[in-house]
Amino acid sequence: MKKILVIEDEVSISDIIKFNLKKEGYEVDTAYDGGAGLEKALAGDVDLILLDIMLPVMDGFEVCKKVREKSAVPILMLTAKEEEVDKVLGLELGADDYITKPFGMRELIARIRANIRRTEQMNPSDDIPADIKTFGLLQIDMNRYEVSKGEESLDLTLREFELLKYLAEREGKVFSREQLLEEVWGYEYYGDIRTVDVTVRRLREKLEDDPADPKYIMTKRGIGYYFQNN
Ligand code: CA
Repeated sequence: MKKILVIEDEVSISDIIKFNLKKEGYEVDTAYDGGAGLEKALAGDVDLILLDIMLPVMDGFEVCKKVREKSAVPILMLTAKEEEVDKVLGLELGADDYITKPFGMRELIARIRANIRRTEQMNPSDDIPADIKTFGLLQIDMNRYEVSKGEESLDLTLREFELLKYLAEREGKVFSREQLLEEVWGYEYYGDIRTVDVTVRRLREKLEDDPADPKYIMTKRGIGYYFQNN
């Protein structure tokens, strides 16, 4: 049974989320302020965190940052306003996804499922064979979600890996942000194309010798992004 931690101070919202997630077969734990939420998040037995932003004691931005220092658990931020979305994207807190209030329960559950599924893909069992593709110094194991550059193993988030994999498998082909959002993130309507830019920026910082002069993840001005083999 997958366990979801809901960190939300509005009891009525927390209760309705809890009710619906339990109906879907999830185990649910709740916290009503950021401090208690962080403590439960770091206890280590949580499969996904739903994290509100405006919270007593410690806000959701701070909780997200602190959890990320220690854990790769998927975090889905609950945002109330456009400014918060900007901040989630701009701060690069390491949140995996966000959903804007008010949201429908079906949408929320779909997003939770998608994010948990991705984590499972990222931690494949040992019997999955390696499928290593080499691009110059870069080695990408398409099956086992591992990337290295020369001797150095790169620590990518799931989204970063999936974006890299998608582009690298289609070397040289240019994709628009909207296409990437649909193909890599898997949704057409809810996402914000800035998510793609932020992920590309983070990926370049990890991948490129000089992120300002990329050699792998290339920008096609006015169109989108593509992968170049070196
Ligand atoms: Ca709140």
